[in-house]
Amino acid sequence: MEKKAVSTTPDNPAAIQTVELLQRRWLTKNAFEIELTRPPSLEFKAGQTIRFIHESMERYYSLLSTPDDPTLALCVYYVPGGSFSPVLSDAEIGARFSVTGPHGYFTFNPSERAPVFVATGTGIAPFVSMGRSGVTDFILLHEVELAEDLYYQDIFRKIASNYVPCLLEPSSDDPLPPGTFHGNAAGFIKKNLPPASYDFYLCGEREMTREVTLLADEHFRGSYVFKEVFF
Ligand SMILES: Cc1cc2nc3c(=O)[nH]c(=O)nc-3n(C[C@H](O)[C@H](O)[C@H](O)COP(=O)(O)OP(=O)(O)OC[C@H]3O[C@@H](n4cnc5c(N)ncnc54)[C@H](O)[C@@H]3O)c2cc1C
Repeated sequence: MEKKAVSTTPDNPAAIQTVELLQRRWLTKNAFEIELTRPPSLEFKAGQTIRFIHESMERYYSLLSTPDDPTLALCVYYVPGGSFSPVLSDAEIGARFSVTGPHGYFTFNPSERAPVFVATGTGIAPFVSMGRSGVTDFILLHEVELAEDLYYQDIFRKIASNYVPCLLEPSSDDPLPPGTFHGNAAGFIKKNLPPASYDFYLCGEREMTREVTLLADEHFRGSYVFKEVFF
């Protein structure tokens, strides 16, 4: 039987492309941002992902950069003992990787309902791309362990209608960021989100997406839920 070749035309998200590591910047001891060359044919929408193919592994990452940026940027959590994130954290500048993309449908769709963005940890990445691409006036809940994990808060404090850091382990030593909620994002939504129909965009840990989806169903009738589950 004739084998069907994968097309390498620019508009084929399955085509394997090569990217080169340009820079790495640690945001905290557990998370870093990387900048990669952008293949000229890789067009994407804010919120989409790329997939790395490395040895026998495949790993997806949300793009932090905007569709107009000349390079690609990612925000990566360093998983101690992880199979691939340490490869990205240790790679030499100039290292080359095979990627495909763009992938996914986690893009912003304006509607008459107010948008509520909810992220855990590096799940903030697609919202950075959306915000840098011009989306404003959303509520954003960022659930993290510590205040130092609130990467990109400067961006969101300017463009969100309400930016709420949800701290799981507030330290008694450091001053708390303005508007901090002690607890997880689902806890904030249950206690403080006024009843209405919303568009919930949920990104990061599966457990958060599960809890917030249940709340949306029970307390916010007429809401829509869009999800990107990282793990
Ligand atoms: C659609 C999609 C988009 C993704 N986008 C991102 C992204 O933008 N940034 C990012 O850091 N990761 C993202 N991920 C997760 C990423 O693909 C990898 O799973 C992650 O980097 C761990 O890979 P690893 O091989 O190092 O860990 P593995 O050896 O595969 O270990 C997996 C374990 O690592 C932990 N883990 C995985 N991802 C995270 C995370 N983000 N934060 C905390 N702990 C984690 C979990 O405990 C998980 O069980 C995304 C996943 C999907 C499916």
